[in-house]
Amino acid sequence: MAKNILEATFMKDFIKVTHDMWHKGWHERNGGNVSYRLTTEEVDKYVDTNSGSRSVELFRAIPELSCEVFLVTSAGKYFRNIILDPEENLGIIEIDEMGKSYRIWWGFLDNGLPTSELPAHLLSHASRMKATDGQCRVVLHSHTTNLIALSNVLKLDTATFTRTLWQMHTECIVVFPDGIGVLPWMMPGSDEIGEATAELMKTHSLVLWPFHGLFSTGVTLDEAFGLIDTAESAAEIMVKSLAMGGAKQTITKSQLLALATTFGVTPLDGIL
Ligand SMILES: [Zn+2]
Repeated sequence: MAKNILEATFMKDFIKVTHDMWHKGWHERNGGNVSYRLTTEEVDKYVDTNSGSRSVELFRAIPELSCEVFLVTSAGKYFRNIILDPEENLGIIEIDEMGKSYRIWWGFLDNGLPTSELPAHLLSHASRMKATDGQCRVVLHSHTTNLIALSNVLKLDTATFTRTLWQMHTECIVVFPDGIGVLPWMMPGSDEIGEATAELMKTHSLVLWPFHGLFSTGVTLDEAFGLIDTAESAAEIMVKSLAMGGAKQTITKSQLLALATTFGVTPLDGIL
């Protein structure tokens, strides 16, 4: 008999991170979504991987994700309820061998489906797996209030956002030396925003959707959460500085370069 999946470490970690994200204030209503790439060995103790569960066509084939398994948040559900009923608010999918469809192994009760941002998640996984030698396992999307506020006042480009956030807090250039990629406004849930996000993910572990929110990636849930938290904290400092009349001084270019040297990171080209 299968073990209780709610006892699995990956499930406990996932529920904790989504609950932390809710408490951060980044997930009003049904806002935000998370996907966590698992191995079959992690999952098959807990679910019947041969069960005749539902199969759903993908928006397009993603052969790079052949046979990959993901724990994903449900479409239209609220983060604050995940802890109350994981099986309704989450699900586990396995991509088929051709990368053309997925099978639901667990969860998504009452005919639920994965998040409507599944294209952005899956294409971002494919992109980050390539960029990190297969290490990246997590994609988070949050409605980060202060970063969204900054998209109303800063020039919407990668260099401006990256430089501004690096200057707000000493840790930023060390935590995300590859910067924050900035897209133009695009329609959420579309294949196009998924493709554009994945393109920026080739070079950035963070991607901003202006007037909407942030995508963050990482090897672990902690890493992806820490990344989004750091960028959002820096954005909050900028918002507070603007509210006090604007920054009168910030970390200088030579100080940023010294930080990069001391901590052994390579800052994104063209920012400093
Ligand atoms: Zn969103």
